[in-house]
Amino acid sequence: MKNSLQNIRSIEDFELKDKKVFLRLDLNVPMKNGKITDSTRIEAALPTIRYALDHGAKLIMASHFGRPEGLPTDREKYTLEPVAEELGRLLDKEVILVDDPKSDAPKALLPTLRPNQVVLLENLRFHPDETENGEGLAKAIAAYTDIYINDAFGASHRAHASIVGVPQYVQQKGVGFLMKKELEMLDKVSQNPDSPYVVILGGAKVSDKIGVIENLIDKADAILIGGAMAYTFLAAQKVETGKSLVEKDKVKYAAELIARMESRGKKLLLPIDHFVVTDIKKVDTLKTATTPSINAQDIGIDIGPKTAELYRKEIAKAKTVFWNGPMGIFETPEFAKGTFAVAKALAESEAITIVGGGDSAAAINASGYGDQVTHISTGGGASLEFLQGDKLPGVEAVRKHVPTT
Ligand code: AMP
Repeated sequence: MKNSLQNIRSIEDFELKDKKVFLRLDLNVPMKNGKITDSTRIEAALPTIRYALDHGAKLIMASHFGRPEGLPTDREKYTLEPVAEELGRLLDKEVILVDDPKSDAPKALLPTLRPNQVVLLENLRFHPDETENGEGLAKAIAAYTDIYINDAFGASHRAHASIVGVPQYVQQKGVGFLMKKELEMLDKVSQNPDSPYVVILGGAKVSDKIGVIENLIDKADAILIGGAMAYTFLAAQKVETGKSLVEKDKVKYAAELIARMESRGKKLLLPIDHFVVTDIKKVDTLKTATTPSINAQDIGIDIGPKTAELYRKEIAKAKTVFWNGPMGIFETPEFAKGTFAVAKALAESEAITIVGGGDSAAAINASGYGDQVTHISTGGGASLEFLQGDKLPGVEAVRKHVPTT
């Protein structure tokens, strides 16, 4: 399919006034001791929420949060109370938190809802039906829903009740702004990128990324490789990698990939220098390895400065850039130079720059350049599955099926 949004309606296509709109969001924010540590996901949900409210919808919002195992023990740890509080603050509205996500309380609540009030269901996963896609929860929600909107891209690779169950029982269904942008952007990088198209791949393992590589390889003009993945590729070229992480069973695949890119006259660039340590826990052993090969006692933990410059030049020539996976162990500030250099190169580029999957969003945000790229995908697992060419259950659930004649 050329366009993932084909036969999918957006929230703007509905008459929302006085309608009961169920909005599935991804408010699964990082939290520590009951405090939200990063509210990016809540902020990303605001345009759709505000649009619905501005157009007179009676809004019921819902999200999962973490992986609660059982109630009541897990209630305190996984309650959406802090999220409700933050939402209320950002929207300047009263957020009514419905304790039991399966209850029919919204039915009674909604007709009398005032314009300064919105409803948020408690953590959907407090009910086992959510992850089991039980029809009880789906039917309970559908019973009070006029319009179903999915704006939870990050949860749309899961066939859960609020993602695929509810829309089965609701006629009017579609997507919110965040979901729409995600699909448009991921279509761009996987189907119709403007050339030159540079794909930057990093992160821990080649094995995690094979599906993505296979799906993007035909479109990319150049692939730049960093992170631990790079050592498996270097090993495939018989370059010494010392004690760096190498996936032995993927060396053959890496060699084949290099040959495939070469035979098509396309670039596959590997690090020409590195930052190395003798022990990952000993930051003071950090030094530069100025050659592609790494000494026997050393561990590669980041791309080196010459590689960063080589990659920067390639990124500067591109019209489309897709980046997945950090260039090194960026969680340790001393090992983040290469990752941050790539982030800077994306920020300086005039290309369409899209970052997504795994830890990449965290990496670009940590670099401080997060607001200077075209799009950061909020859904790690979902964007990887999409880029692998898989259909996302949550997207298919809101697609209007037009019979083929
Ligand atoms: P991914 O989620 O697949 O994008 O992988 C991200 C993880 O890869 C991060 O936690 C990084 O710390 C890790 N990583 C990147 N480069 C290296 C490296 N050279 N050695 C070990 N781990 C790495």
